Amino acid sequence: MAGRKDIIAKQSIPQHLRYSFEDFLRQFPNDDACIEHIKEQRWPKGITYCEKCKAEKKHHRVTDRTAYACETCGWHIYPLAGTILEKTTTSLRTWFYAMYLMGSTRCGISAKQIQRETSVTYKTAWRMFKQIRSLLCEDIKLEGPTEMDETYFGGRVKGGLRGVGKRMNKTRIAGIVERKGKVVARTATERGNNQLLELAKEFILPESTVYTDEYAAYNNLDKATKDGKPLGYNHRRIHHASKIYVVGDIHTNTVEGFWSLIKRGIGGVYHAVSQEYLQTYLDEYTFRYNRRDQGNLIFKSILEQVSKRAVD
Ligand SMILES: [Zn+2]
Repeated sequence: MAGRKDIIAKQSIPQHLRYSFEDFLRQFPNDDACIEHIKEQRWPKGITYCEKCKAEKKHHRVTDRTAYACETCGWHIYPLAGTILEKTTTSLRTWFYAMYLMGSTRCGISAKQIQRETSVTYKTAWRMFKQIRSLLCEDIKLEGPTEMDETYFGGRVKGGLRGVGKRMNKTRIAGIVERKGKVVARTATERGNNQLLELAKEFILPESTVYTDEYAAYNNLDKATKDGKPLGYNHRRIHHASKIYVVGDIHTNTVEGFWSLIKRGIGGVYHAVSQEYLQTYLDEYTFRYNRRDQGNLIFKSILEQVSKRAVD
C-alpha cells in the first residue's frame, strides 16, 4: 500500500528532482566513489590546509587507505575523521544506500529492509539508521501563519482508560508548522503546560499569527514575552471540543496532517519506538517534510549532513 503510494509520488517528481536507483548505482559504484564524494564535500578538489606545509595544498588519494596525501609533503588527511563513518567496518556504499533509502521514502524505512537487501546484520542496520537520524536534527525558526498542536504517541494501554489515564504511558509531542512551509516537532515529556509555551517562544518568530485549539496550555500565547519584550503573537483558536474544526482560516489542519503522516509512518514501519529514540524519528520525518519539494534529492541533503556534522 505504502509502496504503491511511493511509486505514484515518484512519477510526479519533475525531471530535475529525480534521482533513481540507477543514478545511485552509477554515481556510487564502489566504496572509493563514496569516500571521494565525502572528500569533495569537505575539501573540494582535495584542496585544504596542510599542517606540515602551513599552506593550502592539493591532496591525492592514497591507494587502499581512507587517507589523502598532501602533494608536497605527503602528510595524510582523513575525510571520514569526525563523521559518523569514521570507525565503521561496514561498506561505505551500504551506508550511502541506507541514506538513499531514507531519503527516497515518504513513510519511513525499516532496518529490516536494509538487512534484507545487503549483507549487514539487523543490529548493524539498526545502528546505521540510528546514526543517520542523529544527523537530521535541525534548529529552524518559523514565521507567518503557523499552527501549533500537541499529540500523544506510543505506549499502548490495555482496557478502557480514558483521558489523562489513557495518556499515562504515552509521550507528548508538540508540533509547530508554517502553513505551506516548514515544521518543528519536539517530544515534550514534562507534564507542565509551560513547556508548550516555551517551545512556541523558541521556534516561532515575533508578530506571527499562531493557530491552536482551545487547550489551556496556549492561554497566554498572545501575552508571551522573550527577554522582557512582547512577542506580539496574534493568537487564533478553534474550539475542537465543540466539534468545530474550521472557521474561515482558523484551523489546525496542517499540523494534524503532519501528525497523521508520522503516525502512519512510525506506526507502520517502526512499530514500537521507545521514548528514548522518538525524538530522532521525529527529526527524520521533519527533515523529509521540510524538503518535500526536493523530490529524490533529499538523499543528497542527508549526505551533506555527514560532512556538515563532522567534528574536529
Ligand atoms: Zn603538506
